[in-house]
Amino acid sequence: MLGLMMAEPLRVATIIEHAAKWHSDTEIVSRRPEGGMHRYTYADANHRSKQLAQALLKLGVENGDRVGTLAWNTHRHFELYYGVAGIGAVCHTINPRLFPEQLVFIINHAEDRLLFFDLTFLPLVERLAPVCPTVEKWVLMAGPEHLPAASDLPGLCSYEDLLAAELGDYQWPSFDENTACSLCYTSGTTDQPKGVLYSHRSTVLHAFGISLPDALSCSASDVIMPVVPMFHVNAWGLPYAAPLNGAKLVLPGAGMDSASLFELFETEGVTFSAGVPTIWLALLQFMREGQRRFTTLNRTVVGGAACPPALMKAFEEELNVTIMHAWGMTETSPLGTTARLKGKHAGLSPAESLGIRAKQGRAVFGVDMKIVGDDGHALPHDGVAFGDLLVHGPWVVRDYFRTATPGELTADGWFRTGDVATIDPDGYMHITDRSKDVIKSGGEWISSIELENLAVAHPAVAEAAVIGVPSAKWSERPLLVVVRRPGMEVSADEMLNFFRGRVAKFWEPDAVEFVNQLPHTATGKILKTQLRKDFAGYSVA
Ligand code: AMP
Repeated sequence: MLGLMMAEPLRVATIIEHAAKWHSDTEIVSRRPEGGMHRYTYADANHRSKQLAQALLKLGVENGDRVGTLAWNTHRHFELYYGVAGIGAVCHTINPRLFPEQLVFIINHAEDRLLFFDLTFLPLVERLAPVCPTVEKWVLMAGPEHLPAASDLPGLCSYEDLLAAELGDYQWPSFDENTACSLCYTSGTTDQPKGVLYSHRSTVLHAFGISLPDALSCSASDVIMPVVPMFHVNAWGLPYAAPLNGAKLVLPGAGMDSASLFELFETEGVTFSAGVPTIWLALLQFMREGQRRFTTLNRTVVGGAACPPALMKAFEEELNVTIMHAWGMTETSPLGTTARLKGKHAGLSPAESLGIRAKQGRAVFGVDMKIVGDDGHALPHDGVAFGDLLVHGPWVVRDYFRTATPGELTADGWFRTGDVATIDPDGYMHITDRSKDVIKSGGEWISSIELENLAVAHPAVAEAAVIGVPSAKWSERPLLVVVRRPGMEVSADEMLNFFRGRVAKFWEPDAVEFVNQLPHTATGKILKTQLRKDFAGYSVA
């Protein structure tokens, strides 16, 4: 017997429609890449998204067509999320920090028909266009006054001209909730990038899921500023969760440096933010240097890479900002787990609760997880046994977009994350490593993440990475690579001594190398594949 409730398909456009109706005067503030600030309301954003939808239809964009973006966090990018998906087309956000060859591969693989880009990327798209034949029209996300005097870009026009020609008297159509709405390619640090094609259903459910109090906890009283780019897994879903909850949204544009971010946090009264550890490590240094304090920011989500406990401690003790550690992947929309305490943890000491909150955390409803051994059998949740982390749920990828090879599913339909983890009896998952990064010494595993977390707790360390290097006796041993804080000194011996008594003897790194900077991926994570190349041939006695 079927239930007797209304069969209303879950659609992304209903989120902006809701915000426009019930939070009509709540603001979206964004820094324009071409200069100056832009400020309007959810009602305006809905109207302009509808103008965009009409313009896209006039250009012949059809259901399922891919519309690419090379853009920062701005109000126009926000409108593309809704305008493109709202007509049943696919908003394909592209990470402009990837290598040009990867960009070309991605645009051609997706067969983007239109490509919207910020002024910042004009020189880049002029190089890409000749080798991206599927793109019929390149749209500059600015007013016509910013169009170049001469350009060979096919169909080049300005975003504002496209919108100005439309009235916005449009009704979002209804369609199957399993229709694709957005596309995001994995960073492809080891293989070619792979496309993850989200559906309206998965996106709306994810937006609900991340809003929960023990997930990212979004509310109409919040001012949310995603520092994570809108091309990095849809800014972790915040451009959907903010209007769903009626929160004010602040979009920082191209200015992701600490000074620009701090200015926006303060002038716009931001209460809640999100970004990868690198951003917060840099911001911490900036705050310390100027003895600055936040007036309104009270919490931030840190994920995308392991958040060092020392960073959490510093933010809380020095800046009065709570860091909420979260884990996820492009393939999981991205939120999978968050490390929030349970009621039973109320009496714990700060150190004990930090021990729990530094883990990657508990499964958010909508994502189930388990760890399995090499034989595929589930391992116990004892906080000790570690194995491959598998996940399952309505916002987890089933298959990659247009790949001949099957996805990463097990025979019984779980997604292999490629992460190695433990799960404790309370359900807190703890990642020990990416399976490709684990160090195996004399047959025993060493967690590079734990060693890195410890290294950055040293006052002279700005950033650290640990990789395995060949050892004749142990097959592999950990090498620590350190970036010192400006003006701070620490010797190799002091650094190695720092690990003594803090980790098992055989975990202590064998050597340390100091570098001026570490290689990062396009999403700001440490690029271990490059580091391993940089230290190829390095071996320890
Ligand atoms: P991406 O799809 O590029 O966002 O990368 C996803 C991968 O980032 C995961 O499989 C993890 O290896 C890593 N990752 C994300 N969040 C965390 C976290 N909180 N701690 C450790 N690793 C993380």
